[in-house]
Amino acid sequence: MRTFPISIGTPDGLLFQGDAERIVCRSITGDLAILAGHCNFCTALGMGEAHLVLEDGTRREAACIGGMLTMMDGSCRLLATTWEWKEDIDAERASRAKERASAKLAQGGLTDQEYKLVQAKLQRALVRLSVKE
Ligand code: ATP
Repeated sequence: MRTFPISIGTPDGLLFQGDAERIVCRSITGDLAILAGHCNFCTALGMGEAHLVLEDGTRREAACIGGMLTMMDGSCRLLATTWEWKEDIDAERASRAKERASAKLAQGGLTDQEYKLVQAKLQRALVRLSVKE
């Protein structure tokens, strides 16, 4: 299968640079798959499971929490707000974050701003847990 060059990074640094057959992630308008030959494209990313399929067929799974993806002249760049490879996710930490966020939502009395922040924390925890499953 054809491959294309891709780099994946966060504001903390580069996490992957090489050739891939496919990158799949969640954009703000839905799930997205990029393959070699994709037209020039730019999108904001949402929160969700992502995976990268390498030249040799290896599939690397990750949690992607927001960012931007561009495909320009055959090269893909993914700059995520947070990107965690499956093996780097601490499931116990994510479970604790999920419990804390769920408890705050159940308790109620949150301002709109607090509600949105807690919802986002819960979403991040759920994405991490689902990548770990
Ligand atoms: P927590 O309440 O556990 O900090 P959070 O969703 O508020 O969770 P973030 O603000 O999204 O955490 O992330 C802060 C940093 O911690 C980022 O570098 C992120 O990659 C890392 N991180 C957060 N949760 C986990 C986890 N469960 N496993 C590995 N890294 C994590």
